[in-house]
Amino acid sequence: MQELIMPIKVTRKELKELWLHATYRCNLTCKHCLFSCSPTNNLGELTLAECQSYVLKGMYQGVKALYITGGEPLVWPWLSDFLKWYYTLESVLPLTILTNGTLITADMAMMFQGYIGQGLNLRISMECYTKTNHEAFRGQGSFDQVLYGIRNLNNFGIRPMIAFVNKSGGDLCSLDQLKLESEFREKLKSDFGLEIKGLKIIAAYGKGRFAGLVHPVVSNEQVRSRLETVQCAYGVAVSKGGVYPCPIMVDVPESVLLETKAGFVGQSFELNYGFCLSCFATGSCCG
Ligand code: SF4
Ligand code: SF4
Repeated sequence: MQELIMPIKVTRKELKELWLHATYRCNLTCKHCLFSCSPTNNLGELTLAECQSYVLKGMYQGVKALYITGGEPLVWPWLSDFLKWYYTLESVLPLTILTNGTLITADMAMMFQGYIGQGLNLRISMECYTKTNHEAFRGQGSFDQVLYGIRNLNNFGIRPMIAFVNKSGGDLCSLDQLKLESEFREKLKSDFGLEIKGLKIIAAYGKGRFAGLVHPVVSNEQVRSRLETVQCAYGVAVSKGGVYPCPIMVDVPESVLLETKAGFVGQSFELNYGFCLSCFATGSCCG
């Protein structure tokens, strides 16, 4: 096999996405967590004022979509204050909250419902529509808890997207996305009476608790063809540590970006991290 060109050089041509990695804390301790999140993770969290400032700046620089992730955004103490502030802005962008779904109470679902008409999306992580397979990665009790969260959303008319991590590796384009999506849709409906909007499949990355467990196979051709579609080519992510190339990198201090006069657009940088190969091998992007 032809030797892979490393490091891979990517240039950010535009700034379409801004990811707020609000916290590294999480009520779960999933086996495949990219950041080894847990209830006691102390890598820090963004303050409300920091998020507000990043969002206003991102909107000024032309960002088209916002995401709030973690860790678990629902343990971030400023989530409801942030939403209240954001949805009083004169104009807003589509905003997606990525959550494990286990902490969505009826009150919280009611709060989300108030913003759905303004473009709020909810994305909930599930490893399977069966308890055994889901809990093999997300821990005992997590299946009933996520069903509880989806049920609360459904009761307020909200159908969430489901995010599924493809632990088997391989090019996502070769997966039968429609088949998996209809399995999730049908099983969650028939077994639990729950409704979802759709399914998004994302790659597994060999970092955090999955370090050393993912071995993407990638060709130079895949690298070349995906240089402009990897999310570091069109977005940034912020966490307590600063601004990073993407939401997967937010615990890699060496990858912190420095803003230039042109903002973050036009920056070229070298990717020398093995886990980046998952993006090129699978075509995965979080947005
Ligand atoms: S994968 Fe998500 S839900 Fe699981 S521990 Fe990490 S942040 Fe929490
Ligand atoms: S993990 Fe993917 S999106 Fe992030 S810097 Fe590496 S190649 Fe880019």
